[in-house]
Amino acid sequence: PVDRSPEIQEARLKLPVLAEEQVIMEAVRENPCVVICGETGSGKTTQVPQFLYEAGYASGSGIIGITEPRRVAAVSMSHRVAKEMNLSTRVVSYQIRYEGNVTSDTKIKFMTDGVLLKEIQKDFLLQRYSVIVIDEAHERSVYTDILIGLLSRIVPLRNKKGMPMKLLVMSATLRVEDFTDNTKLFRIPPPVIKVDARQFPVTIHFNKRTPMEDYTGEVFHKICKIHRMLPPGGILVFLTGQAEVHSLCRRLRKAFPFRKSNTTTGEDEEADTSEAMRKFKKAKQKKPVSLPRIDLDNYSALPVDEGDEDREAGIGDEEDEGSDLEIGDDPNDAEEKADPSIPLYVLPLYSLLAPEQQAKVFRPPPPGTRLCVIATNVAETSLTIPGIKYVVDCGRVKKRFYDRVTGVSSFKVTWTSQASANQRAGRAGRTEPGHCYRLYSSAVFGDFSLFSEAEITRRPVEDLVLQMKDLNIDKVVNFPFPTSPSAEALVAAEQLLVSLGALKEPPRTGRVKDIEQARLSCPITPLGRAMASFPVAPRYAKILALGKQQDCLPYVIAVVAAMTVREIFEDLDRPAGSEDESSKLNQRRARLTQMRRLWAGQGASLLLGDLMVMLGAVGACEFAGCTPKFCEDNGLRYKAMVEIRRLRGQLTNAVNAVCPEVGAFVNPKMTPPTEHQVVCLRQIVLAGLGDHLARRVQGEEILDPKWKNGYKTPLMDEPVFIHPSSALFKTLPEFVVYQEIMETTKMYMKGVSAVEAE
Ligand code: ADP
Ligand code: MG
Repeated sequence: PVDRSPEIQEARLKLPVLAEEQVIMEAVRENPCVVICGETGSGKTTQVPQFLYEAGYASGSGIIGITEPRRVAAVSMSHRVAKEMNLSTRVVSYQIRYEGNVTSDTKIKFMTDGVLLKEIQKDFLLQRYSVIVIDEAHERSVYTDILIGLLSRIVPLRNKKGMPMKLLVMSATLRVEDFTDNTKLFRIPPPVIKVDARQFPVTIHFNKRTPMEDYTGEVFHKICKIHRMLPPGGILVFLTGQAEVHSLCRRLRKAFPFRKSNTTTGEDEEADTSEAMRKFKKAKQKKPVSLPRIDLDNYSALPVDEGDEDREAGIGDEEDEGSDLEIGDDPNDAEEKADPSIPLYVLPLYSLLAPEQQAKVFRPPPPGTRLCVIATNVAETSLTIPGIKYVVDCGRVKKRFYDRVTGVSSFKVTWTSQASANQRAGRAGRTEPGHCYRLYSSAVFGDFSLFSEAEITRRPVEDLVLQMKDLNIDKVVNFPFPTSPSAEALVAAEQLLVSLGALKEPPRTGRVKDIEQARLSCPITPLGRAMASFPVAPRYAKILALGKQQDCLPYVIAVVAAMTVREIFEDLDRPAGSEDESSKLNQRRARLTQMRRLWAGQGASLLLGDLMVMLGAVGACEFAGCTPKFCEDNGLRYKAMVEIRRLRGQLTNAVNAVCPEVGAFVNPKMTPPTEHQVVCLRQIVLAGLGDHLARRVQGEEILDPKWKNGYKTPLMDEPVFIHPSSALFKTLPEFVVYQEIMETTKMYMKGVSAVEAE
């Protein structure tokens, strides 16, 4: 029996999903798989695990597992459910990539989808679980899609073996045909239970004009107007990224300053301080971080790129243009003068924000203030913020795009989908009728795509193919994907894995069709299995697998960890807000350039290029105890360095598991590699990045000036370049390998290292 507090009990009774408890639990009893659809905020994530618990699904040996596509949700939902049930976090726990609080008493376990995928690799039948809940399935994240495919096979297998298991798939939208009308996936379509949320009408206000350039300025003016002219009620704003969120927060706090009166919570103290400074201060108060105890169970398949806030969904909405709350879209009649008489309580919200900061949006704003949350896509479906009456939607989303052929990636801000825009609008109608201000015209909305594509169709899949081969799924083309990646992407993935030695190419005989088929069913090699056990991308896994030679392993692990975590240097390309900030930024840039030069070293080590810089940075930071101060002084991202430290622990552990005789360990006082080792490292790196080779275009070949200092790659007709911040920018070696190519103002190679011309 669960002993809930009266307040919790009262709040629960208001959630629409509670009315469906009987229906849901009966469907779960009678069917192996059930799909639940319910509007964001209807109580799916917090309540369904409790229903299952109370129905006894965790009273035997099996426990209840819930997967989330985002770390944020896994952590915060586990805390919330523990609190609602009045149970300890030893019982309601979470596990994400680097950390968790799971114990032998755990009965309800929230985890990221990558963590469960890794568990399937260890125990295909998932015998620890009596039920798996796949949450946020509408987001169509790659891991969620694959898990559903795998579980569609695991559940019948468990039933056949007399160890029944249940699968619940939860979605915030009604668009679930990819799961239900897909006989390859579920031969018998699972029942769909719709939770009728009490959604209040939301009036949609379109702009007459669509600002193309300064949409954040437009957002600012709209918020000012709402705050000055409209009745009380929280404002939720959708922007595309963290930098935009922070700059708007700063601007709003200036316009509507909020002075602490008799509160002791210190909620507004960061109002004047930059986010980075605040984080450092906070971190400084903590005890020094110690190296994590190595835990084999504690890693996920691959790093989930949470920087991409690109998940989408859809609901219906009501339209009513020209209501009396139409506040027009002329930006000039809003003022930017500071007005402390009407304080605005401004909070940022995005996935990388520290959990304590995120939790603030769930608490009531200080008396006399209006809540204004400036968010990225996280607020679209993962988290429900109470008391929102107004939504301001910029209509855009930031996504990572990959070129199908070349693999070149870029972050682009594009229009969102209609479904996603409707989902955003719906956030305004949770507690009373609301308003959504769309900063684009209805004609532009009409041109949005209806839905956004599943992530799996939009990115390279070599990592998934390797994981699946390791699960002995040889013919990945036949896998029951909810949406299949393109055959082209699958072929490219298998070819890369063959060239890395992770898969074995079958003999080239027979008819053309057989050859085509064979290219899509290459079996995994022993090297491939070792690589699959490393929680990094296949190219880096290959580098790790070769790392034990010439005592290079500690360096290889450090470099791979740094390449995997990405963006270890603070972004100093940002525009400065003030003159003071600008001079500080310049100082920091100079310092970082100086440090980069120092870390890159001279002679042989310089040729290892950006990878040497990473190695130097990791080594120096670790030597200094990985303190926030060291990072701040040297232009390193503290959060990235902590992640690298954890990943080094994990990788060391994974390597030891594959070949115990090397006895790898993490040495915080790692000495720099010898010249001989650097030469070795360059060869090892080349073995992993061999398909990322570029040759400098020389003298007479430069017919077109655009090729000056350019490099030629096998797949592209356009030149690629070494970035000015690279250690090899001045050297311009004849042959280089690179980590990836990002298109910004030009095509730039990142993580460049020179290779020997032979
Ligand atoms: P769904 O999964 O259907 O979107 P949730 O179960 O996440 O819905 O949320 C149900 C309710 O619980 C929402 O009203 C939300 O505001 C509330 N809630 C969720 N997490 C917290 C929290 N940490 N603190 C307070 N309220 C919360
Ligand atoms: Mg939810």
